[in-house]
Amino acid sequence: MTNETGSDHPLTPPGYDPKLAPRYTDIATFMRCPLVRDATGIEIALAGIPFDGGLTNRTGARHGPREIRNQSSLMRSIHHVTKVDPYALCTIADVGDVPFTDVFHLEPAIAEIADFFGRLHAAGAVPLSAGGDHSVTFPVLQAIAAERPLGLVHIDAHTDTGDEFLGQKIGHGTPFRRAVEDGLLDPKRTVQIGIRGAQNSDEGWIYSLESGMRVIFMEEFTELGVDAVIAEARRVVGDGPTYISFDVDGLDPVYAPGTGTPEVGGLTTIEAQKLLRGLRGLDIVGGDVVEVSPPFDPSGNTALVGATMMYEILCILAEATAKRIG
Ligand code: MN
Ligand code: MN
Repeated sequence: MTNETGSDHPLTPPGYDPKLAPRYTDIATFMRCPLVRDATGIEIALAGIPFDGGLTNRTGARHGPREIRNQSSLMRSIHHVTKVDPYALCTIADVGDVPFTDVFHLEPAIAEIADFFGRLHAAGAVPLSAGGDHSVTFPVLQAIAAERPLGLVHIDAHTDTGDEFLGQKIGHGTPFRRAVEDGLLDPKRTVQIGIRGAQNSDEGWIYSLESGMRVIFMEEFTELGVDAVIAEARRVVGDGPTYISFDVDGLDPVYAPGTGTPEVGGLTTIEAQKLLRGLRGLDIVGGDVVEVSPPFDPSGNTALVGATMMYEILCILAEATAKRIG
């Protein structure tokens, strides 16, 4: 593989492996993977979506990909629980950020995201991306779910199934309603986990329930415990193709303060890690970690948490991808 930081680069010595180099060195890429601009031969594409034009309140998630890349330098290869080494299972690379040309207009920017992920999809690369606000999941689904609706495991304080805000139908509070309307998401194979926090309107909660989604409010999560929630999530999504969308505000702000819409009383990091590991073996076809907002994250811990959740998703995604490729 010819790439910008890997062993085929003319300026690096033979045998140079960026993943084994000192972790503070070189340009930060996701998980210290090689940076490539051509998805040919890439099985899992790690991508940044530096866009927060869909936010309704505190902006800053546009800076998420860069800080997640930086903190992901701390990630290493072999998972300490499952012993999975995703890099031994799949060809994985950082494919850079969505190259926006019209970032200040919402609809064209969303279309540019869909185009970029459409190109990855056409090349056969499975996407794992870092946002960006949650509006970015809708164009990713447009790109990868056109052939058939996907199931969804959605971790978030919010259902993100609102209809509109100030007349705008695209935004970080609406992606999953749009995805259901467009046939990209099967609501009966969708589970939303960690929901909480007061709303000015209950229309999103009602839409989720009436469309057939399984909504696990935080109180039910606490009552059931993480193992029972895993069993319920697996029952809901079943054996079909499934996407994972992880909004860091699903976590308690104690663990992830750097986000636009924090809600107290959320998941702990170990609960979230256990939950993601519990999805092992499902037919996962892509995922994202969104709403990391570095301007509200002075310690950098939210970006570290985001990078860690991305690594957890990468491990189960690599197993699923390797199984599909055969
Ligand atoms: Mn969200
Ligand atoms: Mn949220």
